[in-house]
Amino acid sequence: MGFGGGWGGGGAGGMFGGGGRPGAAIGGLPFGGIPSELQAGVDALLAEEDDSGDPAVVFTQVPTEAETRTLTLWGLLVEYPGMLVLAGILVVVIAFLSQVGPKLTGLAINDILRPGPAHHRLVELVTVTVVYAVTVALTSVSQRAQVQVTGRLAAWVMNDLRLKVFIHIQRLSLDYFTEEKAGVIMTRMTSDIENLQQLLQDGLAQLALQVLTMAVITVILFTTNVRLAFITVVLVIPVLTVMSLWFRKASERGYDRVRDGIANVMSDLSESLHGVRIVSAHNRQRHNIVHHRNVVGEYRDANIYTAQINAVYGPGSQLVGWLGQAALLAVGGWMVVHRQLSAGDLVAFFLYLNRFFAPIQLLVQQYSTYQQGQASVLKLRTLLGTDPAVLEAPDAATLPVIEGEIVFESVTFAYGDGPDVLHDVDLRIAPGETVAFVGPTGAGKSTLAKLVTRFYDPTGGRVTIDGHDLRDVTLESLRRQLGVVPQEPFLFAGTIRDNIAFARPGASDVEVDEAAAAVGLGSLLARLPDGVDSVVHERGQSLSSGERQLIALARAFLAHPRVLVLDEATSNLDLQSETTIEAALDVLLEARTAVLIAHRLSTAMKADRIVVVDGGAIVEVGTHLELLAAEGRYAEMFATWASQSGVGP
Ligand code: ADP
Repeated sequence: MGFGGGWGGGGAGGMFGGGGRPGAAIGGLPFGGIPSELQAGVDALLAEEDDSGDPAVVFTQVPTEAETRTLTLWGLLVEYPGMLVLAGILVVVIAFLSQVGPKLTGLAINDILRPGPAHHRLVELVTVTVVYAVTVALTSVSQRAQVQVTGRLAAWVMNDLRLKVFIHIQRLSLDYFTEEKAGVIMTRMTSDIENLQQLLQDGLAQLALQVLTMAVITVILFTTNVRLAFITVVLVIPVLTVMSLWFRKASERGYDRVRDGIANVMSDLSESLHGVRIVSAHNRQRHNIVHHRNVVGEYRDANIYTAQINAVYGPGSQLVGWLGQAALLAVGGWMVVHRQLSAGDLVAFFLYLNRFFAPIQLLVQQYSTYQQGQASVLKLRTLLGTDPAVLEAPDAATLPVIEGEIVFESVTFAYGDGPDVLHDVDLRIAPGETVAFVGPTGAGKSTLAKLVTRFYDPTGGRVTIDGHDLRDVTLESLRRQLGVVPQEPFLFAGTIRDNIAFARPGASDVEVDEAAAAVGLGSLLARLPDGVDSVVHERGQSLSSGERQLIALARAFLAHPRVLVLDEATSNLDLQSETTIEAALDVLLEARTAVLIAHRLSTAMKADRIVVVDGGAIVEVGTHLELLAAEGRYAEMFATWASQSGVGP
């Protein structure tokens, strides 16, 4: 499955691409075309736009070394060393520049505001004021630059992270999506990444600035008066450290619960949106509301918990700061009275200590942002750390052009840690042969088909195509030669043409039209106003299920696969559609190996061979007539079916 061309086809996609054919629907409404009065403006815009060509996206099934590195904030940031160093320098500059003020104030009180000739003082006062003003201006300019740099850095890091997660999700195997709720995956992609925005944009820089400011002030305090500095700072710091350690632990737990909470809310929401028809049909609205209320309630509780922790840590650390100032007033005042300290130094001390404690409030906020971000990073790390169950071997070879011989050799299979659902299956399907799997629901027919496409690997034995073990070839080269038609075809937002060309984005318009005609889509297309360029609505809900199947068959036809795996739709079709689809199947199955999961014996009858599956094992194999003659399971099934539908053998 190629990643390069992307949906929309070889760079011709997008709203105005591909010779002005209508693009994707927006917000569920069909794209109505560009009004003629706007066309000139659109042309002008297009003329200005550079043709950036096909984006150079490389997708490999096996992650690169860089992609397997454990996700950390630091790892994301060091991808941009230039911006990171610049931000660091600016933070240091700001931390130092912004501490010049109190020093100057203390200096002014001690050396300038003394009795003496006023005109001398005036020059000194103006000098000090000018220096003060210049440092303030410089600080402000540096702050602007810092916000700009960290803003850019944040935008890039988030961009990379989004792509990283998306690429990883493209790699994961089917089992992950079966086990993990879609809503949870969506939350990881949206809310969890979004959560890092504030931290990256300003949080980290502020955090560094606060810490650095406190360090600078500590040094200044100690150089001003060791004793006083010792008494005030040393009293305060151990208490703060203990509180911060507690906060760290408590908030880690809290924010982890918050992330889980929002993921649950989102997945419940997405499930009820997707199932809206069933929900209304079964009058489950009240039940759904109760369930959603519980999920939302858990999220609320998690938020209340973190609010409580913040309520203790924030004001608590502020209190410690104020008590420190009270101690300073007592001790410092005493020292001034005993002439061990000048009044100017005491004022400077107060100003600094104020500045020392002011960041604490901010530090608490930033630290909390940091913890929130860290909770998201952990969730994303778990996601990125999930390996696909179906791994491509590092030395996987490209599968050469195949004839299409499929062999199951003593295949055993279990989903995850569950019980075996296939037991010791042996089967050889000759090139060009059509084999129909029949049997009761849950027998293991779809599982056999999933092993052919390597959506899963067998737990025992092996599956080969033309003698190549599927585990030894690249997934890309395997799936390029396979066509899959699922029971419920998935249609993407876009036109019918886009949907048919999905498996081969480079196909020409003529080829798409041929594929559509070959499977008998002609009469549908003739009815639609825009023919093959008509837009399909949300997953093709505006088309009948027969029409959706035909589009899926046309998609498979266009891809020219050597091997086709087809899960016959179980939905009941009217006679007309059924005839059309059977005719389409005849065209599609010709001259290729086909594995057919047949839910209708009328389809199975036409296969070259029928394989009866029951309880995870193959119980009978043969042609329709052979199996009837054998008077076994198939003959039994056929008799029941024939008596119901009035068909003779
Ligand atoms: P069939 O296609 O014949 O109806 P399947 O191959 O879908 O049967 O299923 C065979 C068995 O495997 C069933 O018991 C089914 O419940 C189980 N099964 C199918 N898919 C999964 C899955 N993703 N995880 C766990 N068990 C599964």
